[in-house]
Amino acid sequence: MAKDRNIGGLLCSQILENLSEYVDGNLDQKTIEAVRLHLSDCQWCEEFGGSFAQLVSVVRIQLNTDNGLSDSVSVRLNHALRAALPKVGTSGTKY
Ligand SMILES: [Zn+2]
Repeated sequence: MAKDRNIGGLLCSQILENLSEYVDGNLDQKTIEAVRLHLSDCQWCEEFGGSFAQLVSVVRIQLNTDNGLSDSVSVRLNHALRAALPKVGTSGTKY
């Protein structure tokens, strides 16, 4: 990682490591908040996250539409997140 940025107390590399767990809802509330804070403020993860970039962009869309998000939109975004997951090709996912 050439440009690891520390935003919200987490580095970009840590965000990318935690992203699949975030999508699965396996993180504790404190980490979830840190991931959200980081992604809402970090362009690097979205542009240079490699195979994670698509996933990051979907998470960011979800963050930006969080207020007043209808259930159907929320469900569709979660489907999009899960659809993006297999392409990520992480080693520790249970899929
Ligand atoms: Zn980042």
